[in-house]
Parts: sequence; C-alpha cells; structure tokens
Amino acid sequence: MVLQAPGQRLEPTELADPVPAAGQILVRVAACGVCRTDLHIVDGELSEPKLPLVPGHQIAGTVLEGGERFAAGDRVGVPWLGESCGRCRYCLSGRENLCDNPVFTGYGRDGGYAELAVAAEPFALPLPSGLSDVETAPLLCAGLIGYRALRMTGDAERLGLYGFGAAAHIVCQVARHEGRRVFAFTRADDEDAQRFARELGAEWAGDAAGAPPEELDAAILFAPVGEHVPAALRVTAKGGTVVCAGIHMSDIPSFPYELLWGERIVRSVANLTRRDGEEFLALAPTVPVHTRVSEYPLERANDALDDLRAGRLVGSAVLSVS
Ligand SMILES: [Zn+2]
Ligand SMILES: [Zn+2]
Repeated sequence: MVLQAPGQRLEPTELADPVPAAGQILVRVAACGVCRTDLHIVDGELSEPKLPLVPGHQIAGTVLEGGERFAAGDRVGVPWLGESCGRCRYCLSGRENLCDNPVFTGYGRDGGYAELAVAAEPFALPLPSGLSDVETAPLLCAGLIGYRALRMTGDAERLGLYGFGAAAHIVCQVARHEGRRVFAFTRADDEDAQRFARELGAEWAGDAAGAPPEELDAAILFAPVGEHVPAALRVTAKGGTVVCAGIHMSDIPSFPYELLWGERIVRSVANLTRRDGEEFLALAPTVPVHTRVSEYPLERANDALDDLRAGRLVGSAVLSVS
C-alpha cells in the first residue's frame, strides 16, 4: 500500500521486489502494526517522508535472504529505527535514538505495509517465540517506545497513562508486572477504553481532564494532546516526571510555573535504541505481555488508519499479510 502524497488515501500498488543492498536482509512481511506515527505521516504532520512511500514500522516477518546475524527462515522484527549513522556524537555515546542522520522504517525507507521489505541487518530484532506474528507486531513500536517511556519514569509507583491505546495497553501490563499502580486517563466518554484499562489491571480509569483519586508519581502521555501536559503536571507529585512519548503533539498551552515547581520534570522520549528492543523483547514473554489486536488484511490499511484516527480501536491495529 503506497502513499503518493500526504493527505491522500494509500493506494494498492504492484511494486518491483525490493533488492537487499549490502548489510541488508530481505523480509517476507507476515504482519505490520499500525502506529499513530503512520497517521501523522499520512496526514502530513511529519513533513519529510520519502515519496512515494510504503508506510509501516512494526514489521513481524520471516527472513528470506539473510546475512551475518539472520539466516533464511528466521523470524525477525523491523522497528522504527531502521538505521543510524554510527558516526555522530549521539551514536558514539550510546544514544543512537537521537542520531543526526537516522533512517526510519516506513518514513525514510519503505516499510511493512507490503509483502516484502528490506531492513538493515544490525537494526533488525530477533523475535521471541510464543506469540503469533500478528500479536507480536505491536510490540515493535507501541511496546518498545512504551517501554522506553516507562524506564524514564524511574521507580514511580503510581503511574498515569494518558491515552489508553496500543502503547498504553502494553505498558500497563509491564507496569503491573513490576508492581506499579496504574491510573488510566481517556476521553471522558470512552467507556470501552476505561473498561479495557481496568481489565488490564489499572486501578482507576477516567477523564483525562479530571483528577485521579490520589496524586501520581509519574505520567506517560501517549495521546498527542498538548493540554494533557499541564493537566498531568497538576496531578503529579513533587519530584515526578511527565513523559511525552509521541512523535507529534498539539501545542502545549502555557501554564503557571507552580505546576513545574517542586522538581517536577517534563521530558520527551524519542525513537528507540537497539538495546531497548533487545531488553523489551526479552522481557515481554516473561510478563507475559498479551496484545489486544484488531486485525485487518493489508488491502484494508486505509480502514485501519481511519479507525485509529477516529478512536474506534481497542488495543492495536495490525495489518496481516499472507
Ligand atoms: Zn548517528
Ligand atoms: Zn510507531
């Protein structure tokens, strides 16, 4: 499925089979998760995609042509960080997620809304067994970025999750596994999401503009809504951290300094490192993380994006390719 220009529908398109370059592997895509970032790309909120573009950066598949780490037949995951330069000050200091010249899957390089994809072998991830490809795909961005965001909250016990979609439903399970208490914030009338959050162990679920029954030690914002930043600070205890986990967010309204005072921290989380991927994919089966998936055939990618945009999904949308 191909994006010709931002704002347009994806078009089913016959493309020539991609040919792996040196250092790349060829992957038969089995499933590809649909991420809010894909929506930001398709809607033109992220302004520098390769065009035309095959979106998709949560690829679960099988290696067709391997290299040094992967052999044909291995299960493999391809995440958002498709490649980093290895030379900039960020790459050289263990912060490849901040690389000055990265290549992102499904943005700077064709991604997984397709039958075949190529990937830089060093940045591909071995997949754990025990979960199907469709169930695994959401781990590769929603899970990974959520995991990185969770690490940024330190040992916060009372954790707020703003927006209870693909990422939060995975993070909630990991947080509960770690003994944290979870408070889920959704749109006031989104009873499906609130029920889903309570099923996964959140002890409270309610209106994102309202107050939880007690203050939080940290909050992670997955919903791309700038108003949530002061709202989260308002209910976060002294010394707590508010982590913005999305790649795009509406403007943050101004707010009184007293909301930040008391050593509260507002920070973003950007992309992922290979280490995040390896750590999280090792952790997920021990929780064990179960993903709630709405499955769409590849040719219905536009419907999946529409449902995500409209907030009609519970859990993660995944395109299945067969
Ligand atoms: Zn770099
Ligand atoms: Zn993503």
